[in-house]
Amino acid sequence: MLLGDFETAQNISEMANKILGEIEDALPTPLNPRVGISLYPDAGTDITVLTHRATIALTAAHDKSSSRVRMWSDARSSPTDNTYRLASDLGRALPHGEIELHYQPKVSAATGHVSGMEALVRWYHPWFGRIEPDEFVPLAEQNGLINQLGDWVLFTACRQLRYWQDEGLAPGTMAVNVSAHQVARLDFAETVRRAIRDSGITPESLTLELTESAVIRDDASTAESIKELCALGVRFSVDDFGTGHATFSNLRNLAVDSVKIDRSFLAGMVLHGQDAVIVEAIIVMADRHGLSVIAEGVENIDQYQRLRELGCAEIQGFLLSTPLAEDEMATFLASGHQLTA
Ligand code: C2E
Ligand code: CA
Ligand code: CA
Repeated sequence: MLLGDFETAQNISEMANKILGEIEDALPTPLNPRVGISLYPDAGTDITVLTHRATIALTAAHDKSSSRVRMWSDARSSPTDNTYRLASDLGRALPHGEIELHYQPKVSAATGHVSGMEALVRWYHPWFGRIEPDEFVPLAEQNGLINQLGDWVLFTACRQLRYWQDEGLAPGTMAVNVSAHQVARLDFAETVRRAIRDSGITPESLTLELTESAVIRDDASTAESIKELCALGVRFSVDDFGTGHATFSNLRNLAVDSVKIDRSFLAGMVLHGQDAVIVEAIIVMADRHGLSVIAEGVENIDQYQRLRELGCAEIQGFLLSTPLAEDEMATFLASGHQLTA
């Protein structure tokens, strides 16, 4: 049931109780009906997530006989309990097939044609529903599972790229997010080499996205891994550029190929002067250092046009596409989509 036009969550609970009352009055046998509610946008912004979370709330309403109407937000236990529970469930998520990759395409600003994509990890928890990577990647980093998770992401993304290449879908390059913990590992370069070899892709078709914090960490084994993989032909990109403390001189010592301007700058780019100035400065400086620039979080055509004028090389964002499931991405690639300014 879809309800709109209510003032408070309390109103909607009352409404649900009223509906339960009506059902019971109308039926001769006791059915013991229950209601689970998820509120837009707190519990999610798409119908799949909202429905899933309403189901979670419904299960909670059945578990706890005290209240027959449950909100998803209340059905989740306290944040600390959740964190604890998620951290312990994460270990089982991979073997249970709860982890998936979605892929967000990017285009060359010059041609508007797909130049590659980024693999983004998703967790479909059997109880909590979809959990965002911003929530569980830090947990994986804390409890050490990031290595296992990161390896899985890397191998899956490389295999998927090869599969699409073999299908003749011209997927371009594959970008994989790598956490600082992974790169600092002594066997990181060897793991990447193995993922490339096992999948049969070329090193040039793989880009590793590192955050600024990984780049500025003055860590010998990180620098060594990057150097070794660069020599092999793997590309490196600095993610969320502009939000942390990385400078272009930090990048000079590392064999980095591109920077990815953080989406927070794009949000205000056309409207607010200040962000536009930062974006321009990054593009100019990057060019001077021989780095190419990718803009993420591009949501409208004005931003796209402005970025093209400024000489930004690649564009990614909702204007082109949201991250897509594997089959959706195949359809997207097959459509030969071109972004026109
Ligand atoms: P990120 O690398 O900056 O990824 C881009 C995020 O921006 C994605 O969120 C994507 O869905 C979102 N996004 C893309 N286009 C737009 C747009 O036009 N507008 C807006 N508002 N947002 C847009 P997501 O998938 O939730 O990922 C969040 C972060 O989680 C990523 O940020 C990345 O740092 C991390 N992450 C994701 N997958 C992995 C992974 O496999 N390994 C590691 N270590 N981190 C990952
Ligand atoms: Ca990224
Ligand atoms: Ca980013």
